[in-house]
Amino acid sequence: MSRASPFRVGPIARISLGLVAMIVSLVLLADMLLGVVPGRAERQREVRQRVTENLATQITALLEAGDTATLGKTLRQVLERDTDIRAITVRRSDGSALLQHGQLAESDLAQPQAASTANRLRVPILAGRRTWGEIDVRFAPTEPNTLTGWLAQPFLQLLLVLGAGGFLMCYAYLRRAMQYLNPSASVPDRVRTAFDSIAEGLLILDLKGRVVLANKAFRRLNPAAAGELSGRPIDSLEWLAHGENGAAAPAGPWRTTLESGATVSAQPLELSLPDGAQTRLLVGSAAITDNQGRTRGCLVTFDNVTAVHRANEELRSTLSQLERSRQLIEEQNGELRRLASRDALTGCFNRRAFFEMAEDLFVQSRRTQAPMCCLMIDIDHFKQFNDRYGHAVGDQVIQVVARALGAGLRQVDVLARYGGEEFCIVLPGAAVADALAVAERIRVDIEATAHRAIRSTEVVPITASFGVVALNAGSRSIETLIDQADQALYASKKAGRNRVTLWQRAAASAPPATAETNAG
Ligand code: GH3
Ligand code: MG
Ligand code: MG
Repeated sequence: MSRASPFRVGPIARISLGLVAMIVSLVLLADMLLGVVPGRAERQREVRQRVTENLATQITALLEAGDTATLGKTLRQVLERDTDIRAITVRRSDGSALLQHGQLAESDLAQPQAASTANRLRVPILAGRRTWGEIDVRFAPTEPNTLTGWLAQPFLQLLLVLGAGGFLMCYAYLRRAMQYLNPSASVPDRVRTAFDSIAEGLLILDLKGRVVLANKAFRRLNPAAAGELSGRPIDSLEWLAHGENGAAAPAGPWRTTLESGATVSAQPLELSLPDGAQTRLLVGSAAITDNQGRTRGCLVTFDNVTAVHRANEELRSTLSQLERSRQLIEEQNGELRRLASRDALTGCFNRRAFFEMAEDLFVQSRRTQAPMCCLMIDIDHFKQFNDRYGHAVGDQVIQVVARALGAGLRQVDVLARYGGEEFCIVLPGAAVADALAVAERIRVDIEATAHRAIRSTEVVPITASFGVVALNAGSRSIETLIDQADQALYASKKAGRNRVTLWQRAAASAPPATAETNAG
């Protein structure tokens, strides 16, 4: 892709030159045929002729008066005043000089009787009817023999002024006129119709970025400015150069194309039109080249994506609303699930949820042969809190114990409120020793601290009894396991409460043998 050379003579300059050449030719022709412009030499010759003849008249009068002294004085004065005159000779008819003033050239001395020329005029002096003699006047040379002298000739000056001034005026006038001429008028109608039928806005720009053609879709972008597009430089279209909120839009892609010939596609452009409308466009531009591949202009396309953009925005907002309500529903569902699986008083799992989870852990442990333990806990002499302090305090005792149980467990352990003041815990992955240690630690914690949480029961110790069982080959189901833990708990109660008892296989019918840890 090549760009125009800065030294290339543009079309306007060429037209101007042609016009001036025509004018100058006409003047030359008129002068040749009609001689309308008087020559400087001709005018000068006429003046010299008159001067010489006047001089001859004066000399005749002085000669008739016989006043030779005044004649000599007069000739000297004439020589001083008129610098065009070099020398004056008054000669008798026999050729002898009566008076001679001024400087004679060598050639004049050699040819005293030579004929009149442009620089030498000889006029007869008459005495009555006879020729007395003549006056021979030599003038300064008329032919210009220097460049400035040559240039000073009026006809040449006229041609120079006509040429230079005419060119400048034609150039200025045509430049201005071209802007108002409609360059798109040169585009054939069928091309224009084809362009108008395209849904995208289309502009054809010349090398200088001036609009050569704008199709209907482009004119519709800003109908108010549609009338003044042709011939306008695209960068002077303010409404196209100002983006949203009047900020200057980034340089249009046509600049890139006109400067480098590169094709630009889908460059976003946001317009704030004078009527307040916000328009979103995708602008593309491609070079128009001639047969030699030189860039001659640029085709710019404007894809109006305002409607699509608006629809996208609406869709996006609807989607985010949907997402928000989905999240809300999710949260509410989560809350519902939590409420459905939790015990309202303590926040521990309820029986139903506990059985589901415990069942899964049981199956998993059986499959992987990983250890698992189950704990059953019952608050000792709980009835007395109800009886002594009322049901509300009884509830508080249940809550305090539940908190102490939860605090002593890992994330994977499952704690449930099994009944009124009974709790059940599954410890997946825990061996017997671990489970006994956990139970003992919690038992000690409850005994030592639980009563402090309830002011009115400070004096009455809160304790709990624990039954512990480990998963073994004999546990057929989670229910069996829980039942065994319950048996161990019963043993703790029987042995005096506030203690931990491990269930151990014993004679099937007999009460289970227990391994107790006991705080006494
Ligand atoms: P021990 O277990 O040491 O043998 O004696 P206990 O007093 O704890 O024995 P029992 O199991 O007979 O007492 C349980 C009482 O707990 C019976 C019931 O009125 C009461 N109870 C059950 N659920 C709740 C509850 O949610 N809140 C309150 N305040 N009391 C409850
Ligand atoms: Mg009980
Ligand atoms: Mg109890």
